[in-house]
Amino acid sequence: MTFDYDLFVIGAGSGGVRAARVSAAHGARVAIAEEHKVGGTCVIRGCVPKKLLVYGAHFAEDLADARRFGWDVPKCDFHWPTLRDNVLNEVDRLEGLYSENLERHAVEIIRQRATVKGANSIALADGRTVTAKTILIASGATPVVPDFPGAEHGITSNEAFHLEALPKRVVIAGAGYIANEFAGIFHEFGAKVTLVNRSDVILRGYDETIRDRLLTISMMKGIEFRFHASFERVTRNDDGSLHIEMSNCDPVDADLLMFAIGRKPNTEGLGLETAGVELDDKGAIVVDSDNRSTCPSIYAVGDVTNRVQLTPVAIREGQAFADSVFGDKPTKVDYENIPSAVFSHPPLAGVGMTEGQARNRLGTVKIYTADFRPMKNVLAGRNERALYKMIVDGQTDEVVGIHMIGPDAPEILQAAAIAVKARLRKEQFDEVVALHPTMAEELVLMK
Ligand code: FAD
Ligand code: NDP
Repeated sequence: MTFDYDLFVIGAGSGGVRAARVSAAHGARVAIAEEHKVGGTCVIRGCVPKKLLVYGAHFAEDLADARRFGWDVPKCDFHWPTLRDNVLNEVDRLEGLYSENLERHAVEIIRQRATVKGANSIALADGRTVTAKTILIASGATPVVPDFPGAEHGITSNEAFHLEALPKRVVIAGAGYIANEFAGIFHEFGAKVTLVNRSDVILRGYDETIRDRLLTISMMKGIEFRFHASFERVTRNDDGSLHIEMSNCDPVDADLLMFAIGRKPNTEGLGLETAGVELDDKGAIVVDSDNRSTCPSIYAVGDVTNRVQLTPVAIREGQAFADSVFGDKPTKVDYENIPSAVFSHPPLAGVGMTEGQARNRLGTVKIYTADFRPMKNVLAGRNERALYKMIVDGQTDEVVGIHMIGPDAPEILQAAAIAVKARLRKEQFDEVVALHPTMAEELVLMK
């Protein structure tokens, strides 16, 4: 049987773009469908614009601290439309680069929605049907919006990058990655921020001491938290602001309500049932370690499989798929010791086991910590302490986890993750001479 394409990819995000480009480089005839913008969540409305806003927000602290370092900083005003438009222009530039890169590799970009019509056929929004020997679903995930009266007044991270004006009072639902990152962003821009969560845990999955430190610093800065609360009703006040009623706490008036309560796999209406593709109870595509679904000609990578919702993981999965299926190089993704970070203010990052996990899984555990006020914070009069924590297997001396919060924690952690992945022992950390004066030197000085 002949097909229009060797590979048809649905979704031009982190995973889909990598899979399409590498498969084409391996000689496959590839098409990729994208219903929004080439680049996907990370480039268009995720990691990239978010990190640029984090940089923009951080100037608030830098400008305040600069005075203690002798700079005569006049009163500075922040102009949101300038940052917003510069960020959106940068996103457009990147979208262009991603498209060019695909085209350079002879990948056909089909800028419309595509759905599965059968094991080897795809329906396009313009009414055409095309066929492919292999189909890759890389359709990502989408923000969960809760269902309660007035929920339609809230926005998600998708809209946060396009706000007309900066809100003065923001309520954020959730206490995970997006909630804490945007709490930092809005707070630095001068808004009064309240985080509302159903439990009293922020950043579930991160080391407890590290998240407690973020909670303490956030509260010290004036970010408010409402725990064990759920939304009951949101109505509009006469002045256009929102009146938010919750269980377990007093109502709050705000200019913006943002939902950040997780992201659900994009499988609704994709036609996967026509090809016998199994979904789990969260709607994620069930795949084996080769990224293959329960339909042998259909594979899936990235957030739509709900394994680890991070860009570098989606990219690895896309690469492994392309190398295995079209490159004659069977490759599996190694999910152990994936480093991750939260770009909060201050940021935190971690790799490997948390203290709790290590105590459950290992016989004996040694914990080393460095709790210090970074030199720059001391001179700036900024009362924010950094905290580094190293988890060591008591029997083997292997460093099984590193967790940190403080300035540049994600940058430092990326390098430290190499040592954890390489299963280095604590003794080997101790053998390294400190690089002074840095914050990272604490990694080789912990006693
Ligand atoms: P996506 O990048 O979401 O791409 C899926 C694409 O498929 C989308 O472009 C979508 O429009 C398209 N699509 C869906 N259905 C169809 C269809 N039927 N037809 C055609 N096209 C379709 N991760 C990090 O590692 N670091 C970060 O700092 C980070 N920050 C983030 C910040 C935010 C605000 C968000 C929301 C996410 C962030 N992430 C971050 C997560 C990261 O963006 C995702 O894990 C990553 O983009 C997943 O890649 P993907 O290829 O699976 O899906
Ligand atoms: P997270 O999974 O990080 O956090 C979800 C939050 O919402 C938790 O506080 C959770 O509470 C709460 N929650 C979950 N379900 C419900 C519900 N039904 N009703 C009310 N509250 C609920 O999700 P995010 O939306 O913040 O981010 C989605 C994913 O995107 C992340 O998991 C991450 O993989 C990725 N991402 C990565 C970033 C990075 O790498 N820096 C940045 C942004 C996103 P509880 O814990 O109490 O259950």
